[in-house]
Amino acid sequence: MKQIIGGNWKMNGSRLIALEFLSEMKRLGSGSVSSEIILFPPFTLIPLMTDAAADAGIETGGQDLFWLEKGAFTGEISPAMLADAGATWFLAGHSERRHVFGETDEVVRKKLEAGLETGLRGILCVGELIDEREAGRTEEVVKRQVEFALKDQKCVSPENFVIAYEPVWAIGTGLTATPDEAERMHSLIREWVAGIMSNDFADNTRIQYGGSVKPDNAAEILSRPSVNGALVGGASLKAGSFMDILRAVPLRK
Ligand code: PEP
Repeated sequence: MKQIIGGNWKMNGSRLIALEFLSEMKRLGSGSVSSEIILFPPFTLIPLMTDAAADAGIETGGQDLFWLEKGAFTGEISPAMLADAGATWFLAGHSERRHVFGETDEVVRKKLEAGLETGLRGILCVGELIDEREAGRTEEVVKRQVEFALKDQKCVSPENFVIAYEPVWAIGTGLTATPDEAERMHSLIREWVAGIMSNDFADNTRIQYGGSVKPDNAAEILSRPSVNGALVGGASLKAGSFMDILRAVPLRK
């Protein structure tokens, strides 16, 4: 199964920064790595980055989308608009959308459904808050997020769907789950996916780890058998550190 490495730029970047980043990625050999690479820049940079990244082996995605096609929804971007801009992927339920902007499981589900129906491929982000972890509720919370998003989804398949397990307390904090913790949660998530969909679906679904993945911890996390890639925030903003993470992907997967 090909590993999938995503770079979530959040609200960072400019046209100049994007072009410099992509030319540096190409110079460092992004076109010849073994993983699938997806960049999630701010919406405004998607057309530019899609064009400039095509020969660097990189696809682009939206950090978010709205579930309706068009209409009076000031500030929103529809799945078709994302596709029209050149994106092939989207994130649904990133922790900042859930916890800064108040997106519920229901909203995340609608976004996932709409994006997949439009033909985009989606990464569903799940993960527990520190309070939930300390209260021993990690499994209950993550299971609920996975089940809510996936149950009775019609257009979903292992080809168009990826899960990112991102413990919220590890995002942007420099803290990470230990490779053993990540492995344990990924195995549980795979079991839950099997229960909702099928064993075959679960076995073929890629599960990324996210939360302060950096060049110095990437190899250990990415070598765990249930970890099929990473969703990277801060360390994806510099071509050098992002390429170091891509180079840390073990060849056997
Ligand atoms: C993220 O934004 O999904 C993320 C994991 O960020 P960071 O790598 O900076 O923790």
